Amino acid sequence: MGRGVLLVMSGPSGAGKGTLSRRLLSELPQLTLSISATTRTPREGEREGIHYYFLSKPDFERQIEENRFLEFAQVYDNYYGTPLGPVQASLTSGKDVLLEIDIQGALQVKERYPEAALIFIAPPSLEELARRIYGRGTDSREVIEKRLSLASQELEFINHYDYCVINDDVEQALARLRAIVEAEKTRIYRKLD
Ligand code: 5GP
Repeated sequence: MGRGVLLVMSGPSGAGKGTLSRRLLSELPQLTLSISATTRTPREGEREGIHYYFLSKPDFERQIEENRFLEFAQVYDNYYGTPLGPVQASLTSGKDVLLEIDIQGALQVKERYPEAALIFIAPPSLEELARRIYGRGTDSREVIEKRLSLASQELEFINHYDYCVINDDVEQALARLRAIVEAEKTRIYRKLD
């Protein structure tokens, strides 16, 4: 799909993906974040085209029909998907692209684009994950329970990923992510033209 590196980051909600991807994006100017489309309602402070493209369900389904997504999935009763056009354009122009998506989506990307580097961001333990989600205080008890049970299911998919970064310490996790980006750029097939 082009010369840029396609990085796919997933992991349970509360593992710290958001913080790590923000830091990585601010450090690496050649890396761009793919903005996903979703049918869920915007949370306070979320803006169209910055956090997500917020679509109605019929609009999302029409775009599925038109093959406008690199991947899409249903997460917590809503659709989420990666618009294909901008990812292709960035990779072709030599930029690296970061997708922050769920496991169902990551596996679809790997199928379609085997050179993608799949990175699983794992919490140090499920207990620590529970502590972080409760500590955040943004979700109801029911939503937290649902997220925790999904997290333990998600951990079983680690073996489908290329890398696993345990986020026990943000600086160390970032150092590992930088090393992954460098390693991916050094792959032999990237040197052959
Ligand atoms: P949230 O609603 O909290 O923003 O996201 C919920 C979940 O949807 C997260 O696990 C997030 O990684 C995932 N997600 C966000 N965008 C996409 C996307 O484009 N595709 C897929 N498959 N998952 C996504």
